[in-house]
Amino acid sequence: MTSLTSERFIAMFRTLAERIEQEKGYLCELDGHIGDADHGIAMAQGFAAVRAALDAADASAITPTEVFNTAAKSFLNAVGASSGPLYATAFMRTGTLLKGKAEAAAEDGPAVIEAMAKGIQERGKAEIGEKTMIDAWLPAAHAVAAAREAGKAPKDMLQAAADAAQAGADGTKDMVASKGRSSRLGERSLGHMDPGAVSAAMIVRIIAASLSD
Ligand SMILES: [Mg+2]
Repeated sequence: MTSLTSERFIAMFRTLAERIEQEKGYLCELDGHIGDADHGIAMAQGFAAVRAALDAADASAITPTEVFNTAAKSFLNAVGASSGPLYATAFMRTGTLLKGKAEAAAEDGPAVIEAMAKGIQERGKAEIGEKTMIDAWLPAAHAVAAAREAGKAPKDMLQAAADAAQAGADGTKDMVASKGRSSRLGERSLGHMDPGAVSAAMIVRIIAASLSD
């Protein structure tokens, strides 16, 4: 199994930037139902800034930790919405996870999902069922832990995370928002998926695919 080099993480961020740009309109449409219709724009801007910063870096000279710290700083600077500090914290936590490693092992791939979820929860303080991105991120992290417990291979742990994040995002359709901007809508938020949970499921799936062999 090949290791997770800085080049590999940079390629992952490039794919994130490309795919979220493609989904920008859909994410804005979802946000239009329960928010201010800018979620796709914010996320695409964030990942475009990350890609630009990493394109300017020397991939052979920076560590995986520096890749994630660069991503954190550029995402935070580019995104004024609440997702800015949440993802910046997620990337910082991952940078800490990979500290001291010239390259990461395959086992670190699933741990990236857990570190990101932990960062987002610590920063946002949301709980399951409040119709936020945490409804995708926490199930993803729990699926990693369960798959690890079951002795699964890293790629299967990542697949389990992607599936759990998708199921979690789908589940937000039946939730009443109680956190964040859309909580003002109360019952009217029912029947619509949370855009932050939907983009989270996309992000988890892209990370899973990028870090699997
Ligand atoms: Mg919005």
